[in-house]
Amino acid sequence: MAHESETEEIRRKVRSMMPGILEDLKDLITYPSVAFPDYPPQPVLDMANATVATLRRYGLQDARLLEITPGYPAVYGEIPAPPGSPTVMMYAHYDVQPARKEDGWETDPWTPVVRNGRLYGRGAADDKSGIMIAAASLGVFAGRPPVGVKVIIEGGEEAPDHIEDYVAAHPELFSCDVFIIADNGNLMAGNPALTTTLRGEVSCILEVKTLDHAVHSGSFGGAAPDALVSLIRMLATLHDSHGDAGIEGLHSYPSPAIQYPEELYKRDAGLLEGVGLIGTGPLSARLWSKPSITVIGIDAPPVTGASNILIPHAAARISMRISPDADPSHELLLLMDHLRSVAPWNVHVNVSEVTRNAGFVCPTVGPGYMSARVSMESAFGKAVEEIGAGGSIPLLHALKAAVPAAEFILWGAQDASSSRIHGTDESVDLDELERFIVAQSLFLQVLGKGK
Ligand SMILES: [Zn+2]
Repeated sequence: MAHESETEEIRRKVRSMMPGILEDLKDLITYPSVAFPDYPPQPVLDMANATVATLRRYGLQDARLLEITPGYPAVYGEIPAPPGSPTVMMYAHYDVQPARKEDGWETDPWTPVVRNGRLYGRGAADDKSGIMIAAASLGVFAGRPPVGVKVIIEGGEEAPDHIEDYVAAHPELFSCDVFIIADNGNLMAGNPALTTTLRGEVSCILEVKTLDHAVHSGSFGGAAPDALVSLIRMLATLHDSHGDAGIEGLHSYPSPAIQYPEELYKRDAGLLEGVGLIGTGPLSARLWSKPSITVIGIDAPPVTGASNILIPHAAARISMRISPDADPSHELLLLMDHLRSVAPWNVHVNVSEVTRNAGFVCPTVGPGYMSARVSMESAFGKAVEEIGAGGSIPLLHALKAAVPAAEFILWGAQDASSSRIHGTDESVDLDELERFIVAQSLFLQVLGKGK
């Protein structure tokens, strides 16, 4: 357990640092570090340098750029472990999603502003808050933490060029005992939760052809099947009458213990008045441990300009979230076989794979996980819950392959209920940010003691 007086000392120290941390986070938000192709590269490179400078100011003297090709540089730095101590590797990313005021932001996304205890701006939560958690937790110890620390701040997390290949080519740079991935969040600010599972995702394209060419529906309709109706009938089999995935044999992970509040979910999802939920079982299981299927795109003539024809060709892209420990190849095969098996009227069907990403399950028994739990409980003054996340983080697999024995702690100041990451008016709760800086500082101390 974290010692009472030491906990208080860290809490006071972080409190005194918060005004400076806020200014530094505001500064980082001013860089439109969008790493997608077709966006200007200079702000991304400037952001990389600003990240180096920030980390150095908080005590990571060794902070420097790593060249990643293709892609933007990553920021890396190291503080050697005191003899016999474990090493923690802190991860965050400095690139952000695109944002334009016209998309509906109340204020300019690159001009940070505080309203009601939250700092608004693109990247305020995802994931420039993660950079400040790393920096500030080192600053608490004046750059001399009681454990070894490595920091990696990626510049292409949201973009196509990730650092997975770099990790595979340089596993020694990433060797550590515990990874802390500060790119997550509690369901609600103030309620501490460790993310312990992530669902995977597989997707495929289903194409249906029925006719050599489009023909008049008045002359030919009634006997020849059209491709779009055929496609719709096939897609309609993807869910059963309750709205659960309607494919035999899909894997499910045990239900998490936590109850996800239904009203919170409905509000966050923007569910319209009176619309029912789909699926069965606890909401947490439907979101984090059971498979779910979505049709994410359809090729068909648009409503505007639609004419009276039998449609010869139609296609859909189908995405399936799979349970955290499911084999993606197996689940994708079930999905693709199912689609082929439900083709009506001997229509011509082609099913092709698009993505196949495994989920992730964090071990929850090691010293790193125990230290994180204790530290979080002290920082928040509440019992810690375990939650899942719906999205997958491919990097975790690369890190696990490079350092198979390491533990993973997934947390961060991106509270799911209000941060609106990737959306308009993204924000971070400043009290939540402070609590996570306290938690991560305590974590370094608790883990250092356990050596
Ligand atoms: Zn992120």
